[in-house]
Amino acid sequence: MNAFFKLLARNRLALAGGIVLSLVVLLALVTPLLPLKDPDVTNTAFRFQPPFSEGALLGTDHLGRDLLARLLYGTRLSLAVGFAAAVAAATIGAAIGIVAGFYGGRTDNIIMRGVDMLMAFPYILLALAIVAALGPGLLNALIAVAVVNVPFFARNIRGITVGIAHKEFVDAARLAGLSNTRIILSEILPNVIPVIVIAMSTTIGWMILETAGLSFLGLGSQPPQADLGSMLGEARSALITNPHTSVVPGAMILIIVMSINLLGDGVRDALDPRLKSGALSRPMAATRVERRDPVPQAEGKGLLEVQDLETQFHVKDRIYRAVGGVDLHVEKGECLGIIGESGSGKSVTALSVMGLVASPPGVITGGAVRYDGEDLVGAPYRKLRSMRGKNVAYIFQDPLATLHPLYRVGDQLIEAIRSHRPIGKAEGKRKAIELLEAVRIPNPAKRITDYPHEMSGGMRQRVGIAMALANEPDVIIADEPTTALDVTVQAQVLTILDDLRRSRGLAIVFITHDFGVVAQLCDRVAVMYAGRIVEEGTTDEILKAPRHPYTARLMACVPELGGGKRRLEAIAGLPPVVDKLPAGCAFADRCLKAQDDCRQGDIPLERVGSHAVRCLHPETPLSEAAE
Ligand code: ADP
Ligand code: MG
Repeated sequence: MNAFFKLLARNRLALAGGIVLSLVVLLALVTPLLPLKDPDVTNTAFRFQPPFSEGALLGTDHLGRDLLARLLYGTRLSLAVGFAAAVAAATIGAAIGIVAGFYGGRTDNIIMRGVDMLMAFPYILLALAIVAALGPGLLNALIAVAVVNVPFFARNIRGITVGIAHKEFVDAARLAGLSNTRIILSEILPNVIPVIVIAMSTTIGWMILETAGLSFLGLGSQPPQADLGSMLGEARSALITNPHTSVVPGAMILIIVMSINLLGDGVRDALDPRLKSGALSRPMAATRVERRDPVPQAEGKGLLEVQDLETQFHVKDRIYRAVGGVDLHVEKGECLGIIGESGSGKSVTALSVMGLVASPPGVITGGAVRYDGEDLVGAPYRKLRSMRGKNVAYIFQDPLATLHPLYRVGDQLIEAIRSHRPIGKAEGKRKAIELLEAVRIPNPAKRITDYPHEMSGGMRQRVGIAMALANEPDVIIADEPTTALDVTVQAQVLTILDDLRRSRGLAIVFITHDFGVVAQLCDRVAVMYAGRIVEEGTTDEILKAPRHPYTARLMACVPELGGGKRRLEAIAGLPPVVDKLPAGCAFADRCLKAQDDCRQGDIPLERVGSHAVRCLHPETPLSEAAE
């Protein structure tokens, strides 16, 4: 609740609206206590006094009644009627919506068709018809406005309820033996109340206007009682000769409705969970870079070289060091594996390469990413955009998130090709079929008209690979592309990638947490922990003789087929949270070999030949490397 008010207060316009509205409401509440004239006493000798005249601050109307008093009493009445109508419409509408959405089927159909019929009439026309049937009067106007708005709430709430009624927790409640009424009250209602509040806050202004409209037409409040609408209506004939009589109530309506709407928008934004993160803006097209100095080029090895890369997330006053100084390189035709537990910074490292980490909150704070010797950190967006997919392409873990659900896979492939090369539709189609063939999708000419949901998980992942291949990139970064697949499909996907690497000289950076995959595909491996590389070497070296205790423990977690009976060892404890990294080795707290010196200073990555390790007490000392 506190967070809600904080968010609301951060929205300046909503805050302004809230303050103005509070003042108006306060004024309306204390009106009877103020030393005002009687709003209904006429004094025709004193009619049409201009504002600021003696004894009448805002002037008088056509019957000589004090405008200030009428305005304040009128505001009181208009607010009360508008608010009552909103509460009534929200209560009845929400009840109808919940019942229709929860019971579904025929109940839903009958109720909602009735609601549709109400909705088919223009608002004001329907309200007029209702007042005509009930007879003029403020209470009847209130009823009319409420009834007219019921369908809006009913539809809104029904939609939300349908979504919730099929969630697992509702099924669980039903299995637990709760009655329908109990389920509605304890499971559904708490989840729709925010929506009801949102809908109310955005419609209450509208309802005040509608009530004023009916009063303006003489169907609402009856003389001599004043509300804002009837004041406007009575002033109509004097609009030209004595404009102040219309301006006074008109300005008040403007102020009230405007402040309610501004506040309502703010309430909606603050209550909407998707906007709750505070980031009301879209992420930038490329990751923000805040690098003090460009990094001088090292020896210049490899096609893609990551040098001392630092990527952080700045969330409020916290700094998460997701990547804290990573060096990597990959040659043409080589496959580099990056392995590590979930949360060790693999994805963020990979996304930083092409500036794909979402900003805010992501920031690249140091290091360089060189493609063919050229630094890409801080490169202009146009440059990055022209290289994404063409020079460096990505394959992501979840193909359903990569593919647009509403477009055919063929069209998506063609779009990927055409974003880099100006080719015709027909040629694009031919190329798309070729690509699907290359990733061994059977019958590709037919398959390109499929939607993503018509394919199996393995096929979708292959479409993802085809998309990455579309522009014949030199480097493919595959971020756990097989984690969601079963073992046989995984083997097929790995074979495809391996073939492509050999036939096209593709460089692959393969991110995984599976040593089996590494053994199958990779030439070299980098092991990551808490945003840093703790060990690096050729696949052979690392699989045969892991040096870092973390690597060794990771490997001990992998079951071996035919390896005899063996205890599988999980690594106790959790990786450190990257906004509070300990000094020294980040793994020390979970390491069996940790000693006092492990918890101090910065432990460097020491290298002998191709094997490097960041550890003071490695499993096998580096000096034995030559043997
Ligand atoms: P993985 O190795 O599993 O791919 P990631 O690279 O996705 O791990 O994440 C690395 C670290 O960055 C994690 O500790 C994660 O909590 C943190 N992180 C990722 N995205 C964000 C974000 N938007 N805000 C704050 N922290 C994040
Ligand atoms: Mg990841």
